[in-house]
Amino acid sequence: MNPIYQMNPGVQPDIAALLALYCDRYAWLIPSWCQRVFVRFEESQASGNETTDIATTVTNKTYRWATIRFHGGFLADSDLERRIDTVHEILHISLSSAIDYGRQAVKDLAAVNQSLSDHVGQQLCALHEQGVQDLAYAIVKAEENG
Ligand SMILES: [Zn+2]
Repeated sequence: MNPIYQMNPGVQPDIAALLALYCDRYAWLIPSWCQRVFVRFEESQASGNETTDIATTVTNKTYRWATIRFHGGFLADSDLERRIDTVHEILHISLSSAIDYGRQAVKDLAAVNQSLSDHVGQQLCALHEQGVQDLAYAIVKAEENG
């Protein structure tokens, strides 16, 4: 596995090997500021939310790390979906500063106008996820087209 990744030691070997396969394939997308990416697997995330059932990413730019947490839904996906999911999560690392700033601005806005803050917050999250997913899909399609 690319040395930038640090796999959670409790992950079953076959699942760890599968996650390494996808993470390694897209390690080139990790921004240069990010020095370590912790890879976690948690089987049971059945929240009914399609996105969070597959994977989630948390970043800490101050300390130069990110954590990608894969969930059981990832294992049920096709190869194509796993590739898109992995690229999607890695892209969140690059875009974390912008979305973190936006989320803080939405919180600040709540002190002035709660309903506007709620509306802007929902739109910001939806548009951010759409953009990340569009980029992930485009990258995987470009890869397929050589
Ligand atoms: Zn996302």
